[in-house]
Amino acid sequence: MDICSTRKLNNGVEIPDLGLGVFRCKDNEETVNAVRWAIEAGYRHIDTAAIYGNEKSVGQGIRQSGIDRKKLFVTTKLRIEDMGPGEQIKGFEKSLNLLQLDYLDLYLIHWPVPGKTLASWKALEEIYQSGRVRAIGVCNFAEHHFDALLRDAKIVPVLNQIELHPHLSLQPLVAYCEKIGIACEAWSPLGGTGGNLLDDPVLKKNAEKYGKSVAQVILRWDLQRGIITIPKSTHQERIKANADIFNFELSAADMKVINDLDQNPQRISRDPKNIGF
Ligand code: NDP
Repeated sequence: MDICSTRKLNNGVEIPDLGLGVFRCKDNEETVNAVRWAIEAGYRHIDTAAIYGNEKSVGQGIRQSGIDRKKLFVTTKLRIEDMGPGEQIKGFEKSLNLLQLDYLDLYLIHWPVPGKTLASWKALEEIYQSGRVRAIGVCNFAEHHFDALLRDAKIVPVLNQIELHPHLSLQPLVAYCEKIGIACEAWSPLGGTGGNLLDDPVLKKNAEKYGKSVAQVILRWDLQRGIITIPKSTHQERIKANADIFNFELSAADMKVINDLDQNPQRISRDPKNIGF
């Protein structure tokens, strides 16, 4: 396994296990540099969203890096505001225009919205069938959203991007997704901006034991669970360090210790279980 490692999604498309997230990155040099530094450091996967308002700068960073487009995996997401009838495809096209890309690798529904989720999925299916996106998936789905969606979907989502970190390890949902062939991707893997996950004493002890940072231990834990992970940073050194996770392995016992850190699960965002379909 190395920084270029990928896994196969249920439609055969390969997704890099590690990506750069750009939530809260400003639509200016901050995002342009983060994306360029990540690509220079070997990342091949960038995760943005229409709602982050920085797709234009993501596109600039990609172009400045000089990378061959085909070697890069780019994800963006349909905004809640664009989930109304007839709005979804316009939302997708706006993202493509801002990114200045001909196609996306992955397009996701950002949140389930009661009464609008199925129609939005149908729009994503249409976009997929048009060949302008290589894979389609969802974010923030709980089991009941899949149960409802899969009754009418022609295409099974390739992936579920969910809040997931050692204080919210979501073992039942991950097992459920695995069973139906849907990959899981961790958002806020480091506990998000302004969180206190990196101060967790058990994680600190493991970081010392392995001679790594707490962030590296967490990201390695994701990979060893088979979870795709997309840490965000705007600092070049951290972007590099967050990718230096392919030269050590957490023991099975330490994996279990970290899995068990969520006895009192802590969420940054809404629990999708409480959102209707
Ligand atoms: P992360 O868990 O990635 O944490 C980001 C925070 O950690 C920032 O404050 C960053 O600071 C800091 N950080 C990064 N690396 C290190 C390090 N090595 N040591 C110390 N601090 C570090 O949070 P995000 O919420 O950004 O989640 C990651 C990505 O997931 C997002 O960027 C976005 O792409 C996606 N996401 C998706 C959501 C969804 O609903 N689908 C919701 C939220 C996020 P700094 O930048 O200053 O280095």
